[in-house]
Amino acid sequence: MATVTLANISKRFGETAVLDNISLSIDDKSFVVFVGPSGCGKSTLLRIIAGLDAPSDGKLLIGEKDVTLEEPVDRGIAMVFQSYALYPHMSVYENIAYPLRTAGLSPGDIDRKVREAANSLQLADHLERRPSQLSGGQRQRVAIGRSIVRDPSVFLFDEPLSNLDAALRSEMRGELMRLRRKLDTTMIYVTHDQVEAMTMADQIVVLNKGRIEQVGSPMELYERPATRFVAGFIGQPG
Ligand code: ADP
Ligand code: MG
Repeated sequence: MATVTLANISKRFGETAVLDNISLSIDDKSFVVFVGPSGCGKSTLLRIIAGLDAPSDGKLLIGEKDVTLEEPVDRGIAMVFQSYALYPHMSVYENIAYPLRTAGLSPGDIDRKVREAANSLQLADHLERRPSQLSGGQRQRVAIGRSIVRDPSVFLFDEPLSNLDAALRSEMRGELMRLRRKLDTTMIYVTHDQVEAMTMADQIVVLNKGRIEQVGSPMELYERPATRFVAGFIGQPG
């Protein structure tokens, strides 16, 4: 069970409180979107879930297990960033294979997993290319492929489409939705784009200044915004 539970998570950088007492329960296999203006703490919250940053206070549970102090690699979580962070000197194939080589899988298992990921992301014809020979959308697919092969139980996405143009963004939204149905795992997706939030989410978490303003389905937030901020952000007159 990949339920993710945040219990009273706070984060301070020096004197500055960036996250203030965040409590939230994310259902197994749900697609949850964190949305809010730039600087409200979305990336910091995602980095804490991934284990790339430690909270100043509070606990993080995956299933029943307290992972607050656990290393990122032991959490069964994959994170996809806005910048693709691919290895420029390696082919698409080797970029996707890299985490499997590090984990010590056999060449046969590596080959099977890389080809399976490439097929599901429409990269099968590009396996020998270098990242510099790919479009932005294809690069982001490689980054997603690299995270899929480890079979994580939770996926974290930090504004993965914000470097793409509008047409490609819309295409990739569809692609992510297909991927989601195929993998059937918990996904937490950060964006400042209301359209992405409203069209993709089961649950939306609206953040503002390090606090949760409201949690609800797109329809609930649209029909019953709890605050003026939520109403404004979701695009309804408050
Ligand atoms: P978002 O992703 O919503 O744009 P972030 O989580 O990146 O917001 O940042 C939230 C706030 O925390 C910002 O004011 C940012 O400047 C601050 N912040 C983030 N990381 C650090 C850090 N390592 N040191 C100091 N301040 C930070
Ligand atoms: Mg951010």
